[in-house]
Amino acid sequence: MVVPYTHEPFTDFTVEENRKEFEKALKQVENELGKEHDLLVNGERISTEEKIVSKNPANKEQVIGRVSKANKDIAEKAIQSADEALKSWRKWSARARAEILIRTAAIVRRRKHEFSAYLVYEAGKPWKEADADTAEAIDFMEYYARQMIELGDGKQVQSRPGEDNRYVYTPTGVTVVIPPWNFAFAIMAGTTVAPIVTGNTVLLKPASATPVIAAKFVEALVEAGLPKGVLNFVPGSGSEVGDYLVDHPKTALISFTGSREVGTRIFERAAKVQPGQNHLKRVIAEMGGKDTVVVDKDADLELAAEAIVVSAFGFSGQKCSAGSRAVVHEEVYDKVLDRVIELTNDLTTGDPTNYDNYMGPVIDKGAYDKIMSYIEIGKEEGRLVAGGTGDDSKGFFIQPTVFADLDPEARIQQEEIFGPVVALTKVKDFDEAMEVANNTEYGLTGALITNNREYIERAKDEFQVGNLYFNRNCTGAIVGYHPFGGFKMSGTDSKAGGPDYLILHMQAKTISEMF
Ligand code: NAP
Repeated sequence: MVVPYTHEPFTDFTVEENRKEFEKALKQVENELGKEHDLLVNGERISTEEKIVSKNPANKEQVIGRVSKANKDIAEKAIQSADEALKSWRKWSARARAEILIRTAAIVRRRKHEFSAYLVYEAGKPWKEADADTAEAIDFMEYYARQMIELGDGKQVQSRPGEDNRYVYTPTGVTVVIPPWNFAFAIMAGTTVAPIVTGNTVLLKPASATPVIAAKFVEALVEAGLPKGVLNFVPGSGSEVGDYLVDHPKTALISFTGSREVGTRIFERAAKVQPGQNHLKRVIAEMGGKDTVVVDKDADLELAAEAIVVSAFGFSGQKCSAGSRAVVHEEVYDKVLDRVIELTNDLTTGDPTNYDNYMGPVIDKGAYDKIMSYIEIGKEEGRLVAGGTGDDSKGFFIQPTVFADLDPEARIQQEEIFGPVVALTKVKDFDEAMEVANNTEYGLTGALITNNREYIERAKDEFQVGNLYFNRNCTGAIVGYHPFGGFKMSGTDSKAGGPDYLILHMQAKTISEMF
């Protein structure tokens, strides 16, 4: 019996000893930076001429690692290897596959701070965010391992006299995994191990901004005993190798997490049946968000202001769940706004290797330019009340920024900015608050801060989001506790870390025999 799942505890950095341990890991990883990392195809490590050079977003000069880059030929080899490995991997028992995940989780747990330190350098994550990212990666492995053991014998169906019926789950096939850089460990690991544990074979194409942490994770899975060909590691440009993998006739399942733009493109391309393809491709696509914190007049206003600030600025607003809009009742609007400004002005931004900085950089030059251009748009559309400045001389730093008095249709209230920017809109009552909260094309997360039970009940039905939270921030979903996925253009609502997730990676088979 495996022990029941509980989520991996976060490190308490108020304890000096823990801070020292983390500093040690940062030093150790700093000494390793700049190394080369290979591709992995059919168990073979391949080093290519062309590399993805991963850099520290807090310090543009610092190279995190040089990762070999796959081209179409290598991608083709990787698909063939995954197809071959599928023949034996699909026959492994659910338990044996699950044990690989549990072993990998143990390896990562033993080296937890080392993985988190890589996230600090490669993704620009402050300590707590990095620690939470690593904990979530461990959670996905532990949670999906247990879920697979439960699903191993299928589910109960009825049998009539003289008949034996079974309902079992079988793997789908060769799976292409395309994660984003923002939960560079957790989402990458979760979306990789879910198809593996369900008996599929995988091609992992990591985000080009964070390939080193992915390479480290692949090493851990190999160390845990994953057979060759089950996981093929093929970093490369999304547009080059991504399209090739998505279009390939042998690809059966695509698990994508990222922007709406790329997600819809993949969804469309995957729908086309290619010559030689004898199945329909399945697509899991988890995409962007424009998430709202709603504040009612009958609410704890301190809690409301904190919820807005934490939701907006955790990891510099670079979460699909980030609360980039706040919709506040007119009677409490000024009070909430004043407190949000105060809390925002207290936040510190700087090098994330320093524990005291609440916010680090944004991921790269492209993100920096995009966010700064939204700040310019915000100045036209609303009233800038905090932040609004950036500095990209050494790394890509943007001050936490608050805009007030926005029309709900304004661009900065409609489009995903994916940076440390929050905008407030004033509403006259709860009806209008729900209307504004729902008026974007996205539907990922949302929070309602209120003491009014009737509004809580109404929001359960009316607030069109996949993850709805009351009297707290709208970020920070935990595996097994808050299954995660969005409505509308936020994606296919696959609910990562939830009880239905693994089933999306399998085909159910009904087996009936008469006696
Ligand atoms: P992105 O630009 O869409 O990239 C995501 C992944 O897609 C990367 O690995 C990227 O590779 C790859 N890609 C790019 N073009 C491709 C193509 N033509 N075919 C196949 N793959 C392609 O998103 P991102 O900037 O990494 O991540 C931020 C976005 O992710 C935000 O919109 C955020 O809301 C969303 N997100 C959603 C969730 C969720 O659960 N709903 C969670 C986290 C993030 P390259 O890196 O090589 O371009």
